[in-house]
Amino acid sequence: MLSTNIATIFLNSLSEIPAKLATIPPFLILVAPRRTRSQRSYRYIIPDRQIALDNKIVQLVCLKCQLTNHNSNSDNGFYSCESCFARESPSLITPETDAKIVCYCSTCLSDLHRDLGKELINHNARRIPVEQHKLNLFAVLCIEVAHYVAFVKCQKQQEQHEWLFFDSTSDRIHNEKNIPLVDRVPDFEKWIETAGKDNYFFPDLDELR
Ligand SMILES: [Zn+2]
Ligand SMILES: [Zn+2]
Repeated sequence: MLSTNIATIFLNSLSEIPAKLATIPPFLILVAPRRTRSQRSYRYIIPDRQIALDNKIVQLVCLKCQLTNHNSNSDNGFYSCESCFARESPSLITPETDAKIVCYCSTCLSDLHRDLGKELINHNARRIPVEQHKLNLFAVLCIEVAHYVAFVKCQKQQEQHEWLFFDSTSDRIHNEKNIPLVDRVPDFEKWIETAGKDNYFFPDLDELR
């Protein structure tokens, strides 16, 4: 195939295993697939600025009854309640999965809250918004033999960031020493946002190769 994007590679590899995420990964490293050692599966891979993690990808497991969000009777959602967890944690059976998202199904949460009386006011149960988890692109690294280039997201000011380009071998001195290069890429996000959207994009890249 000519091209794909990293979200598609990630989702396809999970469904092929098949596997769900037991937690929201703080970092995710994706390696471009290859058909053979020397043959890439895709000619081009477009980096997505964001990958959304929805209910199909992340597995939630009720700490009390082990119901998961992939059971058909789990439509009422999953909830976190720090007060319940603090009260319960010594007596909880460790789930057989390695789920890290602390949550209760709606039935177990109702059971826990039923007899609390006035104390319930201290329990701030929140529905777990799995649909809202997003992984943001942090870097793209391309390696060819000993030469590598990287696009890296760097902090500029407090809330702002910018993309830098690093080239390990931008130039050579006397064919002995590599001269690396670091440069700003102000249009990087716009560039990947529009990548592949018009018919000339890939033919133009082909010509540059
Ligand atoms: Zn439960
Ligand atoms: Zn509670």
